[in-house]
Amino acid sequence: MPKCSFCGNQLAKGTGKMFVFNSGKILYFCANKCEKNMLKLGRKPLRVKWTEAYRKEKGSDGGKVVGEVSEEASEVAAVIEVAAAEPKKEIKAAKSEKK
Ligand SMILES: [Zn+2]
Repeated sequence: MPKCSFCGNQLAKGTGKMFVFNSGKILYFCANKCEKNMLKLGRKPLRVKWTEAYRKEKGSDGGKVVGEVSEEASEVAAVIEVAAAEPKKEIKAAKSEKK
């Protein structure tokens, strides 16, 4: 069965709407909500939070994006740890020099 062109949900048999442009391009909609958001309101699925496209882009339900984000986060955490550790050494060194 086709997926909704806007939100990405599977269309159950006998439900939804197939919208065919004069050019022959076909869009499938699971609900009037999706049709209105796409055609009347002119919204892009990537910018609407409740669509599959948005979730994939943000990586909230797994995939490559999550892995990349976590790697970046770990690198940032490592940098922060190093940055936090260095001043302490300097302070200790300074204290020992004063004594
Ligand atoms: Zn939909």
